[in-house]
Amino acid sequence: MLLLETGKLKNNHRDSSIRIGSKNKFQGDTVIGDHAKIVKKKIVHDSSINYPIGKIDVTNLEKSSIWIINKYGEKKPIVVGVISMSTSIITILSGLNSLLENNKLISWFPSWLTIPSNYAIYVLIVGFVLLSFGAYLLSLVHYKYDSQCLKCKKHYAMREVGTPNVREVKALDGIKRTTTREHKCRYCSFFKKTAHIETVPYEHTNNSK
Ligand SMILES: [Zn+2]
Repeated sequence: MLLLETGKLKNNHRDSSIRIGSKNKFQGDTVIGDHAKIVKKKIVHDSSINYPIGKIDVTNLEKSSIWIINKYGEKKPIVVGVISMSTSIITILSGLNSLLENNKLISWFPSWLTIPSNYAIYVLIVGFVLLSFGAYLLSLVHYKYDSQCLKCKKHYAMREVGTPNVREVKALDGIKRTTTREHKCRYCSFFKKTAHIETVPYEHTNNSK
């Protein structure tokens, strides 16, 4: 899956942006699996709606990924990222535990890691900064492989092409949203189409009928 958490969506499509309305009939659609072929078959005759969205902007992610790996290699960012994330978990737990004082979140948490509750918020902030920093470092290394071409094996090769498309259809358990993106290798022209399927439960949308 080429969808990266850190990649900025030019045209974000979150729960609130469900576009399928009450005009569209319930279709009982059963799109299963994360495969474009299934989706292709399904676009025949139904009351689904299709609309284009923006490409994921990976310019900064790619620049940073190349820069950090050229400077430090892959191992160091991974080690620092993992340490940073592990520390953040302890820090966040310590902060939450200290904040709650009497109703401890984790009863077995070592008491020496408990700090006065008025400082807990700062510990929490430090924890979230460490968490983001660690996740960012790991995402930079991950991108190197995520952008790799499956055919010529070159890194930073896959480029998003065409117009990404979203298809929404009403199903039993919620709105099935399929986001289809196309990527092409800039060295050997290898082409890849990926479909990301998610179900948005009806309680998260404005049109529940
Ligand atoms: Zn290639």
